[in-house]
Amino acid sequence: MSSLKDYNIDFVKLKLGHHDFNFKIDDSFFRLKVNSLIESGNLIVHILLDKKERLMNLNFNFEGTIQTECDTCLDIIDLPIKGNESIVLKIEETPKESDGEIIYLGPNDISFNVYDSIYEFICISKPMTKTCSESADTKKKCNPQMLKYLSESKDENSNIETPTDPRWDKLKKIIE
Ligand SMILES: [Zn+2]
Repeated sequence: MSSLKDYNIDFVKLKLGHHDFNFKIDDSFFRLKVNSLIESGNLIVHILLDKKERLMNLNFNFEGTIQTECDTCLDIIDLPIKGNESIVLKIEETPKESDGEIIYLGPNDISFNVYDSIYEFICISKPMTKTCSESADTKKKCNPQMLKYLSESKDENSNIETPTDPRWDKLKKIIE
């Protein structure tokens, strides 16, 4: 998949009830986003759509990996991601501005594009800390050369002596 329109769901053609959609996400998905926070990944997204008269419930279930830099050693790792999120599409005569989970559509809308929802859900599922120990490759450890380099530069910084406060020196003399 490499085009935004691949993520269009033509809901107007669907009967009331449940419908399944599956999307296979790879690097081409992230390339569609300008300044994407993620460049590379492999995920499967399963959408369960429940169509009612003027309302649709979309449940997104996704699982896979995204490529990112390790916070500690900067090696590129495949980070496992999974999640379950929902949105509600509501059809109104005069659609209001979307508020969080509810997206309002007009009576003439015939399709809904799920690209932005999928992208957002993947981004919010990214853990705050991303290190080699969380990599999909369970044997992956932080780059030893980089760790060595980092610990050496830290030692250098701690060797810098902090000048003593002259006022404190005076006070010490008084006490003595
Ligand atoms: Zn690392």
